[in-house]
Parts: sequence; C-alpha cells; structure tokens
Amino acid sequence: MPFKSSQPDIDLPTNITNWTWLFNSPASPLQSIPSSQLAGYSNANTKERINWANVKTHTTHLSTALVRHYGLQKGDVVALFSQNTIWYPVAMLAVNRVGGIISGASPAYNVEEMTYALKTAGAKYLFTIPGSMDVASAAAKNAGIPKQRVFLLEGTMEGFTTMYELLELGKREGEKGQVEEYKLKRGEKNKDLCGFLSFSSGTTGLPKAVMISHQNVIAQCVQIKQITPGTHKKVLAVLPSFHITGLVHALHLPILLNAEVYMLSSFTMKSMLDTVVKYRISELLLVPPIIIRLVRDPIVDDYDLSFVTRFSSGAAPLSEEIIQMLKKKFPGTGFKQGYGMTESCSCITSHPPEKYGYEHAHKVGTVCASTTIKIVDEDGKELGVNEPGELLAKGPQIVMGYLNNEQATKSTFDSEGYLHTGDQAVIDDEGMVTITDRIKEMIKVKGIGVAPAELEDLLLGHEFVEDVAVLGVNDDYSGEKPKAYIVKKKGSPGEKDVGEQLLRYVKEKKVRHKWVKEVEFIGEIPKSASGKILRRLLRDKSRGASEGV
Ligand code: AMP
Repeated sequence: MPFKSSQPDIDLPTNITNWTWLFNSPASPLQSIPSSQLAGYSNANTKERINWANVKTHTTHLSTALVRHYGLQKGDVVALFSQNTIWYPVAMLAVNRVGGIISGASPAYNVEEMTYALKTAGAKYLFTIPGSMDVASAAAKNAGIPKQRVFLLEGTMEGFTTMYELLELGKREGEKGQVEEYKLKRGEKNKDLCGFLSFSSGTTGLPKAVMISHQNVIAQCVQIKQITPGTHKKVLAVLPSFHITGLVHALHLPILLNAEVYMLSSFTMKSMLDTVVKYRISELLLVPPIIIRLVRDPIVDDYDLSFVTRFSSGAAPLSEEIIQMLKKKFPGTGFKQGYGMTESCSCITSHPPEKYGYEHAHKVGTVCASTTIKIVDEDGKELGVNEPGELLAKGPQIVMGYLNNEQATKSTFDSEGYLHTGDQAVIDDEGMVTITDRIKEMIKVKGIGVAPAELEDLLLGHEFVEDVAVLGVNDDYSGEKPKAYIVKKKGSPGEKDVGEQLLRYVKEKKVRHKWVKEVEFIGEIPKSASGKILRRLLRDKSRGASEGV
C-alpha cells in the first residue's frame, strides 16, 4: 500500500516562475520584510554581500542585458561553470526570470567532461570564473558556443564580458527598457516549464540531463519550509551550487526563509570552521564526508563550536558509527537527515522537528508533505511496514524526466508518476524511513554521484583491458570510492604494472571525484544471460573481503 505523508498538503502556486514567486509574490520576503532586515548572499571571505532587493534588481538588469544584447530566449540553456560565488544565483535567477534554463556543472570538470555537459544540455551560453576559463573556453569551442557568449561571473579577463559590464548594460536600458519577467500563458503550468538541467546517472548508465521544473523547486522549498523551525536564519553554503542540494537549500530556500547565506568558494576544513565560528552559524547542513572530518580531524578541537545546535546531513549515507561519534563530540546538539536525489529535486523524506534527536539519526525522516511513497519487491509487488524493498516516490518535487532520453525516462518514472529511486528502504509504523541499501549502480563520492558506466566506458578503451566492472566500495575519507574489477587482455604486462597504468589513465581523463582508487584483477566479470553486469555478486565479494570472509 502507498504511504502518504502525514503532514498537511502544501499550498502550491502552479502558474508562476521561481523568480516571480521569490521576488514578486506574497511568498516573497520583499513583500513583508523591511529592507533593512532583508537577508542575502554573503561571500564568507571577502564579505561582499547582496540582499534580496539587490538580487531582484541585478537579476532584472542581467536578464535585460542577456535578452536585448545577446538574444537570450525562453528555453535557451545557459551553463554555469563555477565555484560558489554570490554571482552564481544572480546569473541563475536572471536566466530563469525570462524562461531560460540553467545547467550547472562541477567546476572541477576537464575539457572533455565539460564538452559532454554542454553538448548534452544543448547550452548556448556559458558563465564562468577566471580560474576555470581555460577549460570553459576550450569546451565552449567544442560545443559551438561563440566566445562572445562566454561571460565572467566575477573578476575580469581580457576579451571576456564581465558580470559588472552586463549589469551596467541592462541598467542603461532604464526602468522602462527592462525586459518583462516570463509570465506563464493561460493553461501553461510551471510543472511543464523546465528551469534547470542537472546531471545524474539515475539508476543506470551514463550521466543524463535531469529536467527540473520551476514547480519542482518551488514545491521542495515549500515542503522543507513547512518543517523548518523559525530559528534557521543562517545558512552555510559549503555544498556545491551545481548539485541539487546546494541549488535548493542554499540558493532558493534561504530567500523564502529570509536566511543569510554564507558562501564558501571552495571547501577546506579550516575555511569552513572559520566561517562557522565567525558568523556563529548554529545549524549546519553538511554531507557525510564533511561530518566524518568533523569527528576525526584534530583541527576541529581548535574551535569552540558550543553554539552549534544542530547538524543536518544529506546526499549520501552516514554510518551509525559516525553518528554516535558526532553525538559524543557535540553533546546537546540535534541531528536531522534529508534523503532524496536529483530526480526528486532533493528531499523525498526529511526529519520533522519532533524527530531531531540522535535516537532517530540513522533514519532519513518521514515522507515530505504532498508526497507518497511505495516500497516494492523485485516483482513490483507493494510491501508493508518494516519490509525492505525499492522505494518509489510521487509528489510535486518529482522531476520532469531526462532530456532527450525517452527510454531512460520511461524506465525511471512509471506511468502513475512514481520515481524509481534505485534505493532499498523500509518504513516503520511511525512513518520513519530507513535507507537499507543501494540497488542502483551509482557510486557516491563525497556526496556527488559517479556513474560506473562512465568509468567502464573509459577503461574499456584502454589497450590492456579485456573487460571491466566498476563499483563503489566504502572509504573512510570520501564515503565511497570507485573500484575497478579488471579482466586483463592476453599478452598485457603484469598486474602491478597494468594496475598502476589504469589508475593514472583515469586520473588523466576524469575529474578528481571520479578517480578509480583501487583495481582488482579477476578472470571474468559475472554477467547475466543478457550481458548485464551482476554487480551484486561483485559487491558481495568486496564486502566479504573487507569483512575478512
Ligand atoms: P544525487 O542524485 O547525486 O543526489 O544522488 C542521490 C542518491 O544519493 C540517492 O538515490 C541515494 O542513493 C543517495 N542518498 C541521498 N541522500 C541519502 C541519505 N540521506 N542516506 C542514504 N543515501 C542517500
């Protein structure tokens, strides 16, 4: 039987864009909060700051410049290739304001990866920062984006138009010359208006562009606001903006909550702790690898974190052992988790305030408002409480599908609108969900999804590789790490030599979080009759090995 959220349904606006909702609707802080009390985006290091009123003005000017001077149209895709900066959400919301689509990419991508991202998303424009310009320019060229449409989010560089210049260009059009915000036509719903393309491999295969609608983001913000206590007034933006967690929880939701966002351009333990202490940020949204560092890294002992009241974790599993260490190290704090995926625009479940205690910490909370889940067995038969099976979810945050990939869309989103998560879960009689395993292929490295198929494709192209399977194995530092099982080609050099060459080969071709960290040679990759890799057999083998079986 389906399990419906026990919370009251959300009141969901269905005919406006995220921009109109955030800046020109009754939900907007601009409608009810005096300007002196408006929060905003702050650069945690330079203290550069823009409040929501500034964001509204800047996004209006920027979208005007992009439409009037660079021909941006509704439905055009604009890629953002940058570390976190306060100008990231300005570009994002400006593009969304006029019906454009944002595609975020990891700032660590190399030229090949960025080219794939630009081409798959069909990007026509690109915003980046000086430090990423070499990769951005080369990838833009490969994807046919002219240099005039490659802009700088911040900083200056000879030959490239800057954010400042674009804002000036828009401003010069005067009040009357500003381009109107995109208004949905009669009968058009914001659930059909794509605002974002984020990359995820879903339950199988290569990374795909996930189409996220304006309604998805609005719904998720309302769902989370409903269970967020009023004390949540400061947000640490340490998670990358291109990932769904950052996109929703650090860029959108804080506007609705009028919470100040402290942006860290890149993560180091020291810069994070300095920021947390300097701004006394008492509720911290983190990912498991950072929580692991919090309990293990001795640098943490140099800081007085006694003002921290709650930790919140999401995007990847967190072990019971680490949860207990956290509780011991920070007594008196609360803890919550969110669970979801890119395809669910972040959370499917989250802890409501009455379940913030550590006794519930290994669970991922209750089902979000207006959301229904099912737990099914391998034959699709619905299961009851305390019976583990695949979790399926339906709700206004479940995304539109995959861009230009009907087959993957069909197999991931069923005809009743349920998303197949590829995660195994149980729900108890209090409605609390626990994730018990991952059935799908995805590897989670520092909270970021890595597609085994992408690494398998790469390794299969190596001269010494006959066959390969890649899967995630536990790692103390990054949560999980990619491990490759290799069948060596006849006549190739010895295992040690080939192993080292393959590790180097992946390093040269892929961004750091995708690096294969371990190679094991085997005689044959176990496969089903249809040729599908039997990953579970390999996974059991690797678990057996680590447990000393
Ligand atoms: P992504 O699309 O990158 O957000 O990855 C989504 C996947 O991360 C989910 O399908 C889960 O496998 C995993 N995940 C996310 N949140 C949690 C959590 N709280 N506990 C366990 N796994 C999680």
